Order: sequence, then structure tokens, then C-alpha cells
Amino acid sequence: MSTKPEYDEGARLYQSGLSCAECARQLGLNRTLLHQALTNRGVIRAKPTLRERFEDKWEVVTESGCWLWVARLNKHGYGTFQIGCRSCLAHRVSFEIYRSPIPEGMEILHKCDVRACVNPQHLYVGTQFENMRDRSERSSWEQAKGSQSVRSKLTEEDVLEIRRMSSAGRSYAELSERFGICKSNVATIVRRETWRHV
Ligand SMILES: [Zn+2]
Repeated sequence: MSTKPEYDEGARLYQSGLSCAECARQLGLNRTLLHQALTNRGVIRAKPTLRERFEDKWEVVTESGCWLWVARLNKHGYGTFQIGCRSCLAHRVSFEIYRSPIPEGMEILHKCDVRACVNPQHLYVGTQFENMRDRSERSSWEQAKGSQSVRSKLTEEDVLEIRRMSSAGRSYAELSERFGICKSNVATIVRRETWRHV
């Protein structure tokens, strides 16, 4: 059925980048039959499965074993994955693909603290309460930890320099300008209210 020469021509046109419908129109062929012929010949590939689409979107970070999401992240830093017209959280989708369905009302939490990670072995089921506790522990940990925090603009060298320059008489305003942080941040750094470990 798919040996007709017009299907060869259809395949050629399709591979040149036209849609199947457009090829059918140009060649005066039935669109459904052409689509079927091109599918049988492997010219039109079957739609990737949900799992195949998902696996295109993460990369392994070998040191930690994290599977980092390389597609879209939401504003909280979690990966998002489109299923139909719904935008789903990628780590939840991962859990469902590789582990098991998520019990109703439960959260999927990260053991590795990397929100963009979708390695199912780094995920566990928890309650919303545990999730909130994790987040607040993590954020105070991030603040305490200084430059390892993704939110920090300064390095430990900057902090040392700020304190050195301040004790040499530079104003908070000047340091604020120079390091691109606000004056109150300069003040807390100089007074050792933040970056206490440096
Ligand atoms: Zn991880």
C-alpha cells in the first residue's frame, strides 16, 4: 500500500520540512493515507512517550548523583514538566515514573537539598509540614553558610575585603556602591551579624 511513487515524493517533501498536511495538499493525496504511509516507512516517527520526553530533560551530575533538570524551572527553583496543558513539578513526575504513584495529599521531598534534582533515589515521600520545615531549615542554613548559597552575590574574599576597607575608614555607602549590595548589608557584614564564619 505504501509503495506508490507519490508516497516517495511525499516522503521527500516531508523530509524537506513541510507538514504532512501540506505535502498531501501539494501532491493531491489523501492526508490520512499519506500520514499512514509515512508512518509505516518510519519517516514520521511515533510520538515520544512521556518517559522519553522526560529523559531528554535532565543530566547527571556525577559527583552528587543528582539528575539536574535542564528544562524550565519555576520561580522556586523546581523543574517543571508539561503534561498536556498542565505544568507539573518535574521531581513529582520523576517519582511517579520511576518509583510509584504519590499518595494523595503527600509531598515529594529532596534528600539532597537540590530542588532541580529529579533523581528518584534522592526523593522521598513526606508531609507538607515536613516540606515546610525542610525549606525553613534550608533557608537559614543557606543564610548562615554565606557564599555557598546560590542567593549570595558575595564571595568570602569580598567579605574580608569589605571588613578590611571599612576598618581602613571607607564609608558604608562607598562599599555598598563598590560591591553592589545595599548599605544595610554592608553594615551587617562589618558588624559580623552575617558571614560570621568568615
Ligand atoms: Zn539529587
